[in-house]
This record gives sequence, structure tokens and C-alpha cells, in this order.
Amino acid sequence: MKKYIFMLILSLLMVGCAQPVEPVDDGSLTIMTTLFPQYDISKHIVQDKAKVTLLLPPGVEAHDYEPTPQDIVKLQNSDLFIYTSDHLETYASKMSKEIKNKDNVTINLSTQLELDSEDPHYWLVISNMIEMTNSITEEIVKLDPDNADFYRANRDAYIKDLQAVESELVDLMKYAKRDTIVFAGHFSFDYFASAYGMKYVTPFDSYSPNAEASPQRISKMIEYIREHDIKVVYYEELVDPKLAKMLASETSVELLMLNAEHNVSKEQLDGHTTYSDIMRENIKNLKVGLEYAKDN
Ligand SMILES: [Zn+2]
Repeated sequence: MKKYIFMLILSLLMVGCAQPVEPVDDGSLTIMTTLFPQYDISKHIVQDKAKVTLLLPPGVEAHDYEPTPQDIVKLQNSDLFIYTSDHLETYASKMSKEIKNKDNVTINLSTQLELDSEDPHYWLVISNMIEMTNSITEEIVKLDPDNADFYRANRDAYIKDLQAVESELVDLMKYAKRDTIVFAGHFSFDYFASAYGMKYVTPFDSYSPNAEASPQRISKMIEYIREHDIKVVYYEELVDPKLAKMLASETSVELLMLNAEHNVSKEQLDGHTTYSDIMRENIKNLKVGLEYAKDN
């Protein structure tokens, strides 16, 4: 798959060489984002007043991503570059230093939050998303003060929706009969779990997608599923859920996705799926595994 993607990139670059379509700086604001959360925030703040690009191609796993020469060209032509942390986008600060555009402003969002671990998935907590939205808005306002009122009004609407999602999360945990989920992926939901009072069991001991689960841990997991009458096993987005499928073949669990929103599929990108849409889908799936029972 990796080889295929590499060849695809290579062929796209070659097409690029044959017909040079050098992006022209027409003076409009251009924002480059590495991951989906800050892409979604920026899109909602600027709407049609600026161009927002997502560095990750649709459907690509975020942790293993390495930027292409075209990404550097895009960054060179952008006014604002927003990444989440040096732990996840290990390439970002180097990329930002290498470009020749002296006017480019680069922000590492993790430096603006009080985080107590190196786990990079802090965007899965709504209060962090709200802080990220505030910081991004103010950076955009600095670059384009004429539209400050427009950007701040969009920020308010975006935050209002995030707050609605936060209430849905509180409601979910309040009326859930269970408090523990089984997750068969690299566990990106550690901040989320501690913020909303959820516990999790996972055969992985790291949040890296390359972590391997030992056979001992897998058999313990199967034991746990049987002992606790677990009905749902969760798997992550954009990675083949091999382990989840194996657990499902050994037990009678249902498999549901818990999407950590690193990136989106092409279909989701084209369909303008938002951060809140995905979080609401997560809530819907968590209601099944946590046995949400408000209506009963
Ligand atoms: Zn991750």
C-alpha cells in the first residue's frame, strides 16, 4: 500500500513537472494545516475569505506521514501554518524553518495549552478544541484585521456547536450503565477518557499505531470480553482493524468505530464532514458499548 502511495505521489509530481502549475500568490490569505481538527476550525472561521489546505492527503494515516516536495511548495506559499505538536508532526518545525517565506507564521498549538503528557491526541477534549479555536481565530485576525468581526462571529458559532457536543458527552456518561470500553487500536482516547470519566481496556501499551499487541495480552483481552460480557469492541479510523476482527471471530462482539479525527477520508472531505459530525458519530457508537439508557 505504502509503495503504491509513493508511486502515486511520484506520478503526480511528474505530471506537475510536465505542466507546471505554480500557485500564484494573489494576495489572499492562505492557511496550511497538518491535521483535520485545526483544518476544520480554520475552515469554519474563514469560510470563503481565505484558502485552507490540509497537508495530509485524504485517508492517510497521520503518524507515519512524511511530507512531499509539493507540500513544501504549498507551505512556501502559505501565510499561516498550524500544527498540533512536535510529538505527532515530527516534520513540521523542520519544514517551517526550511521555507524561504519570511512572512509565514507557524503555530504549534500544543505550546498554547497546558498539557500534562506527551500524548498528542489532546484535540479529542472539547475544552482543548475551544482553546485551539480561540488561538487560531486570533492568529487569523492578526493577519487579516479587516475581517475581524466576521472571523470572531464564526468563531462564536463554532464554539457554540462544540459546547453542544460537550453537553452530549456529559449526558452520555451520566446515563451510561457501563463505564469501560474495549478498544482494539492505538489508543488515542486517553485524554478523552480522563476528561469524560470513561475507562478503557486495550491490548496495546502505547498510543503509537505501530505498537504490537502480544499474544498474552490478546488472550487476556478475550478472557476480559467473556468475563465482563462485553458486546462491543471499538476500532480506529484509517487503519485495517485486524485485531478487532480477530477478537470478533473469537467472541460474539460487535465492531464499532471510534474515530480520533487525525484525518478524514476523501468522501468525508468532499462532503464537508465536520469535527462535531465525527464526534457525534462517536457518541452514537459509544452509546451502544456503554449501554446508554436515558430513554429506558
Ligand atoms: Zn494517533
